[in-house]
Amino acid sequence: MLPLVALVGRPNVGKSTLFNALTRTRDALVHDQPGVTRDRHYGVCRLIEGREFVLVDTGGIAGEDEGLAGLTAQQARAGAEEADLVLFVVDGREGPSGLDQDILGWLRRTAKPVLLVINKIDGVDEDAALADFARFGLPVVLPVSAAHRQGLDDLLDEVLARL
Ligand code: GDP
Ligand code: MG
Repeated sequence: MLPLVALVGRPNVGKSTLFNALTRTRDALVHDQPGVTRDRHYGVCRLIEGREFVLVDTGGIAGEDEGLAGLTAQQARAGAEEADLVLFVVDGREGPSGLDQDILGWLRRTAKPVLLVINKIDGVDEDAALADFARFGLPVVLPVSAAHRQGLDDLLDEVLARL
């Protein structure tokens, strides 16, 4: 069994864009509309020296428990629960939100290893973004731009060090 790494975060932070950038496929549904990824998408990341893992693109956790959004959130939680490692993706442009805090609380309860990925770092002050999210108290923080393929090598190094 290959190790499983799940992308988790609220809608529109760039999980599917990051999934595509890391898997170099277009299998994940990417769209401006929040919450468009209804299901989980799986992609295999093949890396140097035969190291590989399966990346799971979950739908956003929208904070609702009913209807389609609730179903998507359930899928996202299921994706995280079966993962060996969670990449908690947040939006470096918007900064921390209440929903991020809720997801963080839930992730803490699952006791999964979590890396904080601050996406959309293109065009924002990286130090300010890092300071904003320092309150989350997560030891490993990776600033990236999925859209501009920045910070992905460092992210992959951190992932592989934990599998
Ligand atoms: P998801 O809902 O978390 O899967 O988010 P998506 O991957 O669908 O992306 C939501 C929006 O953010 C889209 O308009 C993307 O083009 C945009 N986006 C994703 N990554 C980046 C990034 O690194 N920088 C910027 N500026 N925009 C991004
Ligand atoms: Mg998505």
